[in-house]
Amino acid sequence: MTARFKKYDYGKCDICDALMEERQIKQDFWVRGELIVIEDIPAGVCPRCGEKIVNAAVGRRIAEIIENKESMLNAPKLLVPAIKYAAEHAGV
Ligand SMILES: [Zn+2]
Repeated sequence: MTARFKKYDYGKCDICDALMEERQIKQDFWVRGELIVIEDIPAGVCPRCGEKIVNAAVGRRIAEIIENKESMLNAPKLLVPAIKYAAEHAGV
């Protein structure tokens, strides 16, 4: 498989109208009660407000990754802090 990095025009931000910049982002998804992180997603990122968008092809690829249970099982695991709100903010 050859993956050629193609420039994609993301246009302007829907929210603040700034010109979107192409970046590789890390995005978290909750899938069937499990938190997964997909890294190096090509996306348009707004330099002003931080809004993120992906093009349709990337969106489809993300859906495939999420649907593939085997690749999820085989992926390296991250350890993330899980904090209960009530414990950290007692009496609030
Ligand atoms: Zn924006």
